Amino acid sequence: MAPSGTLTSFRLPPLPTIREIIKLFRLQAVKQLSQNFLLDLRLTDKIVRKAGNLTNAYVYEVGPGPGGITRSILNAGVAELLVVEKDSRFIPGLQMLSDAAPGKLRIVHGDVLTFKIEKAFPESLKRQWEDDPPNVHIIGNLPFSVSTPLIIKWLENMSHRDGPFAYGRTQMTLTFQKEVAERLTASTGSKQRSRLSIMAQYLCSVQQVLTIPGRAFVPKPEVDVGVVHFTPLTQPRIAQPFKLVEKVVQNVFQFRRKFCHRGLGMLFPEAQRLESTGKLLELADVDPTLRPRQLSVSHFKNLCDVYRKMCDEDPHLFAYNFREELKKNKSKFQEKDDTERYRL
Ligand code: SAM
Repeated sequence: MAPSGTLTSFRLPPLPTIREIIKLFRLQAVKQLSQNFLLDLRLTDKIVRKAGNLTNAYVYEVGPGPGGITRSILNAGVAELLVVEKDSRFIPGLQMLSDAAPGKLRIVHGDVLTFKIEKAFPESLKRQWEDDPPNVHIIGNLPFSVSTPLIIKWLENMSHRDGPFAYGRTQMTLTFQKEVAERLTASTGSKQRSRLSIMAQYLCSVQQVLTIPGRAFVPKPEVDVGVVHFTPLTQPRIAQPFKLVEKVVQNVFQFRRKFCHRGLGMLFPEAQRLESTGKLLELADVDPTLRPRQLSVSHFKNLCDVYRKMCDEDPHLFAYNFREELKKNKSKFQEKDDTERYRL
């Protein structure tokens, strides 16, 4: 392993192509696992360049598969690359790469959803949150069914400064279904504005840095793919607990075509709904007739700050769930109905 601080100049020796690796190790994509591979190393180089300067970096690649992106990362002069792959069929091909890059590639057969990256790299890499980002990067082309829950989990880790963010403001470069990439980066007022836009943008600067046409993958997925780069902000734009922000955002966007007061009202028990929603909107200085997608992150900041105060004043408020109240009312109504029917 190269000590950090020294310049590393490394190129992989000539190797079989990714297509040959797939043939050699019989790595046909498994449709149920949504495996779509990138075989063109110029394209994987381009993705890796979007992560920034990786000289002497410690990189965590999620879902390396047959190793296209892995090769590009190794050729970018990294100090160490740790890959976590769930499908054991890929391990021998990755082992071949590891032999070609002695001491640089660490392979873990495991699941990115449970792997503890915070213990994997040297402590000396840790930076204060307010400092420049550490020389630790996450890069990955995961199945869409994994990348969306994973980014939500990592956003929560970011808010707690744990998991991958125990090192500081770790940067991430990840692929998403184009539509999800657009939602992550959507600005106020745009059609794609959604829960994901607010949850990502209050914590990080988010940029879609590349679009890859579906035809670049083997087998070809139904959709195009967006590469998104995330850099955590030194100061989150909303200074409230992740779960509280998530609750407010979720409530607003559940009625995405209605005025925002409709969804916000669901934060409060029916008996106080009208009054409390009015108070929330007034104190937060938010026009009740704005649609959810017209709300900026600073609107959400005001809403979350006022809702937090209301929760502090009423300790039962945060636990309130309108669906449970609906269910209770429904069963009460049903009971009453049954009793009345028996009376007849
Ligand atoms: N990175 C490779 C590429 O770009 O060609 C493969 C991409 S393929 C879309 C996704 C890869 O992630 C597959 O190798 C799959 O086995 C792996 N994978 C899927 N779920 C995973 C998980 N939970 N943990 C680790 N790897 C996973």
